[in-house]
Amino acid sequence: MAVNIQWFPGHMAKAIRQFEENITLVDVVFEILDARIPLTSMNPEVKRISGDKPHLYIMTKRDLADETRVREWLQYFASINQPAMAVDAKTKFGPNAVLDKVNPILKDKLAREEAKGMKSRPIRAISVGVPNVGKSTVLNRLVNRRAAQVGNRPGVTKGQQWLKSSDKLELLDTPGILWPKFDTQEVANKLALTGAIKENAFSSDDIALYAINRFRETMPEGLMNRYRLTKDDFELSDVDMLLKITQNVGMRDDYLRASDRIILDARAGKLGGFTLDSVADLEANDDTN
Ligand code: GDP
Repeated sequence: MAVNIQWFPGHMAKAIRQFEENITLVDVVFEILDARIPLTSMNPEVKRISGDKPHLYIMTKRDLADETRVREWLQYFASINQPAMAVDAKTKFGPNAVLDKVNPILKDKLAREEAKGMKSRPIRAISVGVPNVGKSTVLNRLVNRRAAQVGNRPGVTKGQQWLKSSDKLELLDTPGILWPKFDTQEVANKLALTGAIKENAFSSDDIALYAINRFRETMPEGLMNRYRLTKDDFELSDVDMLLKITQNVGMRDDYLRASDRIILDARAGKLGGFTLDSVADLEANDDTN
């Protein structure tokens, strides 16, 4: 099927090159994932480029996600020994939570260095993720900017800096931006709905219809309460439901404006928490490989 959403692989090549350079400087990679689309916001290149560097998944936007599914993802990652955590990056999140995950991964490496007589040193990390996933929010929560600059270090590309998170952790100030694997309309819809791709890259009615299609089963109360739908309205097709919502929010027949409203409401969590990727999707993908 043709994918209607445009993206720009030219940026991707440059981003990958820069990430490849930066990876040599760090002990651990924080891949930031969106807890609403943990699989879709993953970039398979990150693992390839990271090679044997340890990798921590930080799933942001837990407060906007479906808690049951988030727990399934955490369990799944634990079952494959993949370090992972899920957070509301805007609150209740800081360096200690990350160090709790990172210390066990790097314990052996640091012990080996100490055994060779090397001075104890902070762990160095870089974060990477798709646009809008929460990279800056994570960085800001981990770093006290005023006290943060560690100064330039050899090897760091001009203009980049290490920021001090704690005595035990330093972060590169420029997170890597990588685009997700982007090969089906379903993936595009998920990215658009969660805000990972630009507004002008898709038509909002397509995305609103996708939201209605997903949420009518999983979050009927959210739709009913927000848009004054009745039980009978759930007999309607997706398109007719969109038209009904358009009327109910007082936009007459301007279904494009109503679509924008639905998308913004979904992103802000006003219809309820949702996670569009399930562990079962991953297993289905694996079967086709
Ligand atoms: P970046 O493009 O990856 O650097 O993403 P930002 O850090 O700029 O975050 C994009 C948007 O998501 C901002 O509006 C953030 O406030 C919001 N955001 C990031 N993390 C969270 C989170 O855990 N929960 C909620 N509710 N919003 C978040």
